[in-house]
Amino acid sequence: MTHHSPGALHIHSVFSDGTGTLEEIARDARRAGLEWIGMTDHNTLAPTYRGFEGIHGGVVVIVGYEWTPDDGDHMLVYGEAAALGTEPLDPTLAPAEAIGILGNRGALTHIAHPDERRGVAMPSLPPYPWHDWQVRGMRGIELWNFMSEWAERLTPRNRLLHALLPGTGLRGPSDRVLRWWDDLNRPVAGAPFPVAHGGRVGAAEAPADSPADWPADAPADSRADAVPGPGGSDEPRFAGGARLTVGVSGTDAHAFRVRAFGRTWTIFPYLQVFRAFTNYLLLDEPLPADLEPARSAILRAIGEGRLYFANRRLGDALGLEFTAGDSGGRHVGSGGWLPWKSGGAQVRAASPLPASLRILRDGEEIARTHGRTLAADAPGPGSYRVEAWRFGEPWAFTNPIALLS
Ligand SMILES: [Zn+2]
Ligand SMILES: [Zn+2]
Repeated sequence: MTHHSPGALHIHSVFSDGTGTLEEIARDARRAGLEWIGMTDHNTLAPTYRGFEGIHGGVVVIVGYEWTPDDGDHMLVYGEAAALGTEPLDPTLAPAEAIGILGNRGALTHIAHPDERRGVAMPSLPPYPWHDWQVRGMRGIELWNFMSEWAERLTPRNRLLHALLPGTGLRGPSDRVLRWWDDLNRPVAGAPFPVAHGGRVGAAEAPADSPADWPADAPADSRADAVPGPGGSDEPRFAGGARLTVGVSGTDAHAFRVRAFGRTWTIFPYLQVFRAFTNYLLLDEPLPADLEPARSAILRAIGEGRLYFANRRLGDALGLEFTAGDSGGRHVGSGGWLPWKSGGAQVRAASPLPASLRILRDGEEIARTHGRTLAADAPGPGSYRVEAWRFGEPWAFTNPIALLS
């Protein structure tokens, strides 16, 4: 039984330009119903900051950092202690070089707010976009960033009003960034199937269930079959490389304080953003009560794309399901793959709340409905994903399932 675990990524504290202490942030995460959070202060892994990594009031707090060059090209970096090291990577390196170094160490690299813009130029709040959209090798892309979208619609005049009414009327990930993501995840025809640790080829006869659906008695090692990339060949199976490029959301929470009308206002308090931008991990079992295995489970699910994300202000997406099944009775979820066979496959979405549901193949819509379930016969190999909208606004996005030929 898959456990859906809500949490939040991309959070700033007093260790850089946020205003919350780590204790306050963990407390607000718990009040918002989150099970885990991923901290990312700018260019720091200060020992006292790393020392806070742990389980606080039931919330698993993992500590990474935001690799922050001066002119944009920000990147969120998470990983096991050995992969992160004790110091953040030099922010003056070229971004492609940084991705390579961090990837080789086994760190997770997510390009942060790549399409950041400003509707009205504000010298005090410039945009920090990602510049090189030909880059490869990052583990994921932050498709939807709460602060970026908020700031994009900001003007000097609407500043305060806008700050008090956040999280409504959101536009969602930009078309440009979604197109980039879909293009990276387009399967390369005829590429080799993922190979397990034992060298077993993930061909039609091999098990291809997602880890979530793997029988309990299956050897843990064979789960590597489920996800293209690790333990196998590095030959590209997708336009973006050997593995799916993972999509996540980020809060970019800072809880900025501003003075206006004779008092201090907190813009986007942590509690408010934690009740909005949520990443739901698909775990084999609930998070362990000890830090090390809990951190590993979180990093693994994020790294494999076993997650979906939603704006909870439009309703809790907890329990959203997206699966693909073939005629042989095998099923996979987000982040998994199945070999494309002549017998075809069916893709299916099930939502905990009524929504406008779309299934997309390589970025093109193949089915749509309004309701709680949507199923469609897959018309061919490709990377399939689901979008869900509520009240005319973007609500939930899944990571892809690949059908590989
Ligand atoms: Zn940033
Ligand atoms: Zn940030």
